[in-house]
Amino acid sequence: MRSDHSAEWGAVDDGVVEKLRGIVGPEHVKTDDGAVAAFSRDATPLFAARPDVVVLPGSTAEVAAVLRLATERRIPVTPRGAGSNLAAGTLAQDGGIVLVLTRLDRILEVDADELLAVVQTGVTTTELAAVAAQQGLLYVPDPGSKTVSTVGGNVATCAGGLRGLKYGVTRNYVLGLEAVLPTGEIIRTGGRLWKDVAGYDLTRLLTGSEGTLAVVTEVTVALVPAPADSRTGVAYFPALADAGRAVARVIADGVVPATLEFLDTKCINAVEDFAGLGLDRTAGALLLFGDDGDPDTVARNLERMAQSCAKEGATGVTLAQDVAASEALLTARRCSLPALARLAPVTVLEDVGVPRPRIAEMVGRIDEIADRHGISVATFGHAGDGNLHPTAVVDPSDDGAIERTKAAIGDIFSAALELGGTITGEHGVGAAKLPWLADRLGADQVALLSRIKAAFDPAGILNPGKTGSPFP
Ligand SMILES: Cc1cc2nc3c(=O)[nH]c(=O)nc-3n(C[C@H](O)[C@H](O)[C@H](O)COP(=O)(O)OP(=O)(O)OC[C@H]3O[C@@H](n4cnc5c(N)ncnc54)[C@H](O)[C@@H]3O)c2cc1C
Repeated sequence: MRSDHSAEWGAVDDGVVEKLRGIVGPEHVKTDDGAVAAFSRDATPLFAARPDVVVLPGSTAEVAAVLRLATERRIPVTPRGAGSNLAAGTLAQDGGIVLVLTRLDRILEVDADELLAVVQTGVTTTELAAVAAQQGLLYVPDPGSKTVSTVGGNVATCAGGLRGLKYGVTRNYVLGLEAVLPTGEIIRTGGRLWKDVAGYDLTRLLTGSEGTLAVVTEVTVALVPAPADSRTGVAYFPALADAGRAVARVIADGVVPATLEFLDTKCINAVEDFAGLGLDRTAGALLLFGDDGDPDTVARNLERMAQSCAKEGATGVTLAQDVAASEALLTARRCSLPALARLAPVTVLEDVGVPRPRIAEMVGRIDEIADRHGISVATFGHAGDGNLHPTAVVDPSDDGAIERTKAAIGDIFSAALELGGTITGEHGVGAAKLPWLADRLGADQVALLSRIKAAFDPAGILNPGKTGSPFP
């Protein structure tokens, strides 16, 4: 899957490897087969590409020196955190250096007065959340991968999670960044202030730029006071269309839920087979709804959401009585991927978005597309913000199954766009979705992205073959 649009890249010869060893220390430069193979894949099952060398810098200055060398020699550099992305964002399609940021793992500061934390980008999301919790604070972004994914990866993909509707996504919590340009300059964008409109908003531009514009080495994130209570309920519906109407009614009835997630019937059954949570297997869909904050308000809001679901034909509604019971319910959502992954050797978790009122229609389209291509797709997702995760379970030994899956995924992207949606709600474009980016943004905007990319990265070395690069 090498991109053929690039002019000649510089070679990673012995001299370059020696220089890299001099910059980061010999033990942090890997060229052996095992290491190169390990960094040839991320969490995107249908893609793979081998780098020439894996480099693990230990400081911002080392990142800068590696990038300067790479720009001078025109060697591609692919930044990488935990490699948990689902869009082939960390694959070194053109070879070169995979730059792994996990050694930048220090939590530099948590300030309860200013409600912020400063961390290096290799810190995992869970570590940051745990340190904030020790001071009674919450770090809001909570991707399902949070125990492994890095804060840098979350910022680079603008990761979402289960709290999107009420609280937003990663970009809403990034106050400032330290980042290294591909040419080696170290910049600081934003800072510690909530209000600061000096200049173009490079913090927002870099957040979600998927390692194509700069390598982020330090992040200042906003924290919020931890809510006193947090509770969840579950409502079962005969069909997903009923659940879709309930989503609209919950919001029309005046509650902005902290959590509003759905599972279709295939997911319910896979989760039940996997975790035995006591879910209603006969339901066509379920909605998990939840709120957090002051306990009385949470109780009132949960009751109101339960009523809204009942009015739209819920066949059963259960409210968790405490945080532990809520967590047990949320397990149903959180284990959807591992539950589906048991069904076949390859699981392709996709990520599209549609306007909220069109969720049920989109799931109908996904089912029709899956049938037409003769593959199995289950769907779960964030009903609150219209973000769906159709998940194909594929047996590659089944003749043509991979090709049919790829074709179905393309049709699913087209269907999302036809319904006024997007090709990715939170996982990013990476290499996997680059061919569809112009369908989403239009040719003029794609050309503008390439000009922005060139301003940051004149030699085009940073994560080529992703956003900002010509299409494959
Ligand atoms: C089981 C599972 C559940 C998931 N759940 C969610 C979810 O709920 N919500 C969600 O949004 N995503 C989810 N994801 C996808 C993934 O975890 C996120 O995209 C996450 O933000 C990636 O973090 P990472 O550290 O693994 O980054 P990587 O996968 O290593 O990198 C992701 C992208 O960021 C770039 N990058 C990484 N670090 C830096 C840096 N320091 N500077 C510049 N660029 C960098 C890379 O080049 C790449 O383009 C899930 C994935 C899995 C496997």
